Amino acid sequence: MSEPTKILAADPHANFIAHESEIRAAVDRVLASGHYVLGPEVTAFENEWSDYLGGGITIGVANGTEALELTLRALGVGAGDRVATVANTVSATAAAIQQIGAQPVFVEIDDETMTMSAPALAAKMAQGSDQIKVVVPVHLYGRPADMPAIVELANKHGVKVLEDCAQAHGAVCAGRKAGTWGDAAAFSFYPTKNLGAIGDGGAVFTRDPELAERLQALRQYGWRQRYVSATPGRNSRLDEIQAAILRVKLKYLDAENARRSSLAQRYLEQLKDSALHLPLADDGIMTSAWHQFAVRTRHRADLQAKMLEKGIHCGVLYPLPLHHQPAYASEVQLPLSEKACDEVICLPVHPGLTAADIDRVVAEILRWTTL
Ligand SMILES: *Cc1c(COP(=O)(O)O)cnc(C)c1O
Repeated sequence: MSEPTKILAADPHANFIAHESEIRAAVDRVLASGHYVLGPEVTAFENEWSDYLGGGITIGVANGTEALELTLRALGVGAGDRVATVANTVSATAAAIQQIGAQPVFVEIDDETMTMSAPALAAKMAQGSDQIKVVVPVHLYGRPADMPAIVELANKHGVKVLEDCAQAHGAVCAGRKAGTWGDAAAFSFYPTKNLGAIGDGGAVFTRDPELAERLQALRQYGWRQRYVSATPGRNSRLDEIQAAILRVKLKYLDAENARRSSLAQRYLEQLKDSALHLPLADDGIMTSAWHQFAVRTRHRADLQAKMLEKGIHCGVLYPLPLHHQPAYASEVQLPLSEKACDEVICLPVHPGLTAADIDRVVAEILRWTTL
């Protein structure tokens, strides 16, 4: 008997194949142009990405981590400052904070949405002695955090908001795209993201022209004019090939998000009576980008192993909360974040999948739950 075809957790190669001729043409155009870093393709992509978000300024950078890091710097965060974020995220969110000598303050999540709890943030902010300078909510798995409440709290306390949008390209919260709520937003274009390059890439989006100017200088040696560093800066540039590829893929982002959404819908319907705790469906307020379809079970390891036997790859994002990792170890107690990290497992939901693939995953899950 032949092995069943694999269902991968993410499939950037399939996405390349889906757009292959356009991507090859875009790469050829760059090769022939003689501009390879921060040239016309980067500028065009920055403008197209700003338009996609409804107007503002985009600054292309080298990756999502540096998008966070440079923006924190541009917002005036420095050594010893405190930055609020969550513990159930990829290490990158905390790495960006720690790189500039600031200290991450982990805020508890909401049990149902698994994103930053506004009441928990309010409680942290009420402790005036440990002033928080910036809040970094993470739109985890594609679902926006509770931005109206978080922004209102931040405004009340004079705290800036930087959205970690690495998993939420095209997501919507209360009628506004993720990334347009805060003072700035950081995007990653790592190949497995909803908008993925074929290599590393990232961007900052903001509607604040002064912040944008600081970021444009920071990403290239602190230059405001060539060869003269106005401020200390570094190198975090986006290259032309990645920008040209992102311009191709951006044309398909909405269609691919719609595909993710319909696959997620199918899971929600077919698994509604299963033993799994399912993610919240989209409603009139939140439209997830469905970067992941994150379910919860206390029997995660068993489910993951049984699915793998059937060729179905389920990722565990993320198994260990940041405050339990050696690099960020802290005594803080975050029972809901810890529970989420213990129970979460992601079912494949990328746009390279078909309804039949979802049905196959569902059938295996239902077989597993009745064992
Ligand atoms: C991917 C990701 C990042 C980091 O992006 P890179 O481009 O890998 O540096 C940051 N935050 C979140 C939530 C991510 O998923």
